Amino acid sequence: MIVVVCVKQIPDPADPGALDPETRTLRRDAKLILDESDSYGVEMGLQLVDAAGEGEVRLVSMVPRGEVSGLRTALAMGAESAVLVSDEALAGSDALSTAKVLARAIQRCEPDLVLTATESSDGYTGTVPVQIAELLDLPSVTFGKEIVVTDGVATVKRQTEDGYDEIECPLPAVVSVTAGVVEPRYPSFKGIMAAKNKTVDVLDLAELGIDPGTVGWAGARQEITDIAEAPARDAGEIIVDEGDAHERILAFLDDLKVL
Ligand SMILES: Cc1cc2nc3c(=O)[nH]c(=O)nc-3n(C[C@H](O)[C@H](O)[C@H](O)COP(=O)(O)OP(=O)(O)OC[C@H]3O[C@@H](n4cnc5c(N)ncnc54)[C@H](O)[C@@H]3O)c2cc1C
Repeated sequence: MIVVVCVKQIPDPADPGALDPETRTLRRDAKLILDESDSYGVEMGLQLVDAAGEGEVRLVSMVPRGEVSGLRTALAMGAESAVLVSDEALAGSDALSTAKVLARAIQRCEPDLVLTATESSDGYTGTVPVQIAELLDLPSVTFGKEIVVTDGVATVKRQTEDGYDEIECPLPAVVSVTAGVVEPRYPSFKGIMAAKNKTVDVLDLAELGIDPGTVGWAGARQEITDIAEAPARDAGEIIVDEGDAHERILAFLDDLKVL
């Protein structure tokens, strides 16, 4: 079974860089790392291949400057190879252009299953996974928390506010994976060393057969019209125990629907 996992490489949240005042997009000129959201998809892919007893995880990423640091992390976890799309003409790509490029790269990997995160951590729209599915004419399942593959059918538990739906869909399909549903493994020393020799195919737009005029700034149909500082978080509520703290904590958790 070939599981393709889309992995976005993002600025390190500990040092996220700055927004470009003219284009209002995130500057991505420092080192990029594996988006933590995508580490769950990588882990789930590896577990599915293990359960199938055959196959491999292949990665697909689109990024400026041919950056591979984040990909190497996912390869060190156990993915077998990667396709990286990088081309100057991709600067300014909106979500749909990103999906078009990823879809074309995914096609080359001949996947049985495509995994993504539900949304990325840096500039998230949460729209790329369903756009990829539409462009590839594949079924799409979102918010997957558990996936079992049997005889070419994926049974997916799809997280909802109250619990989960159970969905069956034929493969190949695109499933977005909710953060926190599996425990991503730490790359071992052996994995890190092995990752250095794994294949990363770096492709430009010409090699993917994509017209540069349809992506990047030239093809963008979305425009970022304004940006604002995120509001500071409210101070939390301090509950002083006067004999009823447990009841007030339960009521608080109940309001959040986490019980
Ligand atoms: C007008 C405009 C200009 C922009 N210009 C730039 C720019 O110059 N440079 C720039 O870096 N960004 C730019 N962006 C942001 C960029 O479009 C988004 O980061 C990109 O479209 C992905 O969307 P998302 O993060 O919302 O993905 P989401 O839909 O939130 O992502 C869901 C999942 O899809 C997968 N995925 C998403 N993107 C990638 C990727 N690149 N590679 C692999 N998997 C992926 C991942 O699994 C991810 O977790 C621009 C956006 C707009 C609207």
